[in-house]
Amino acid sequence: MSNFATQGLQFREPLIFERSSPGREAASLPRSAREAAGEVMIPEALLRTRAPSWPEVSEPEAVRHFVRLSQQNYGIDTGFFPLGSCTMKYNPKINEDAARLEGFAELHPLAHPSWLQGALALYWELERYLAEITGLPAVTLQPAAGAHGEYTGMALMRAHLIARDGDARKKVLIPDTAHGTNPATCAMLGYETVALKSSDRGVLRPEEVARAMAPDVAGIMLTNPNTLGLFEEHIKEVAEIVHAQGGLVYCDGANMNALLGRARPGDMGVDAMHLNLHKTFSTPHGGGGPGSGPVCVQEVLAPYLPIPRVERDGDRFHLTSDRPLSIGRVKAYLGNFGMHVRAYTYIRELGREGLLAAGEMAVLNANYLRVRLRERFHVVHDRTCMHEVVLTDKHQRKAGEVETRDIAKGLIDRGFHPPTTYFPICVPNALMIEPTETESKETLDRFVDAMIDIDDLSKADPAAIKSAPHLPLVGRLDETRAVRKPILRWRAPGA
Ligand SMILES: *Cc1c(COP(=O)(O)O)cnc(C)c1O
Repeated sequence: MSNFATQGLQFREPLIFERSSPGREAASLPRSAREAAGEVMIPEALLRTRAPSWPEVSEPEAVRHFVRLSQQNYGIDTGFFPLGSCTMKYNPKINEDAARLEGFAELHPLAHPSWLQGALALYWELERYLAEITGLPAVTLQPAAGAHGEYTGMALMRAHLIARDGDARKKVLIPDTAHGTNPATCAMLGYETVALKSSDRGVLRPEEVARAMAPDVAGIMLTNPNTLGLFEEHIKEVAEIVHAQGGLVYCDGANMNALLGRARPGDMGVDAMHLNLHKTFSTPHGGGGPGSGPVCVQEVLAPYLPIPRVERDGDRFHLTSDRPLSIGRVKAYLGNFGMHVRAYTYIRELGREGLLAAGEMAVLNANYLRVRLRERFHVVHDRTCMHEVVLTDKHQRKAGEVETRDIAKGLIDRGFHPPTTYFPICVPNALMIEPTETESKETLDRFVDAMIDIDDLSKADPAAIKSAPHLPLVGRLDETRAVRKPILRWRAPGA
């Protein structure tokens, strides 16, 4: 049965406030003799005139309340999470052990570098590993998220272009498959964006890039594999066209999974890219911990990297800020160091062969789902994909007016987190599925069974899917109001 059912989500238990009973307590604090004698020990003026309205419950009730809340969260540790473009892979627990080692976890960020040699060695080595993996020789670990990495990487490109060409370059080319953060990054840096249409094969056409490339264009910002899960097969030619007119190539490497150990963006003509440690390198995602979006660049952009830099001198490491061309700091101290320890542990644990195997399994799993699901669902580009596959609701809409949103809600009742929906925006009603390498064939088969069940119902009883989810505590939210007017705390009835 589904995760939700085993987690007890089908029960509407009374909330802790509703269980409250006057005089019930979860703590037994000793009373002092003076208090017992009726002495008022807090100055009169500071005393409450009304009792606080917090719940009065016993210890087991308090414990059950919090444990139940923890189980109502769906996460990578409770179930399959096929969110496309998010690389929700399992977070190995050895990473957590490493990050909790006293010598890392208890460091003071202002400690003198001579006391931080181990941490700085890890930091320096992680930069070297990421340089090796991407084929881009210079790295900063400072940015705290993918979007922050994009901003940093594009700021490095801009600093170089301004130093070389003045401010003549005002535009950036962006394919229509781009992640929403890409145009936002360009806008924040004052660039105008020019959208490029992908071909019927779902990839960039070199002619389209050549037509748009001009002396006032700073470069191109693309994702490879792109957000259709397809490898940009003309990447080298695209890079040559952009470079020939003095532009630079930025690659959004948030989801580097498919290429790990197999291909290096630096060898494809990419000048700068960011990585999401909280995706490809298995550090926690979302509420699980802060992010980290390192940026890797070609040598020509190295002088602009954020300060301070960690430098190695023999077997000693030190920090330097003596970089006159640097764009400055982008984050306090050295970034989210706990995440660097986790990603380092992951890379060291897998090694070269392990990373290659991870990439291959990610691609194999996505293609397995593509081939099994294409019997029932419309696959947008039904040819070998990379780490993710994009479907639509075309067949289900025809059968019973069951749409992408309904399919996603139906999956919740069947114990799965929905895939990414309505993205990429160049595909109407998209369902973007990224299984990642960490899922077994059995899990993928269960997911396919759930999708087939939903497809069956879209013909036999569409209303059952259109009213899903039925099992979780809350059904369909008013998504607009939930964003604009979120209700974040319980209120007593009538309060
Ligand atoms: C996740 C993602 C981002 C943004 O990363 P954040 O850490 O959420 O800022 C950017 N681009 C792509 C392709 C992504 O998948």
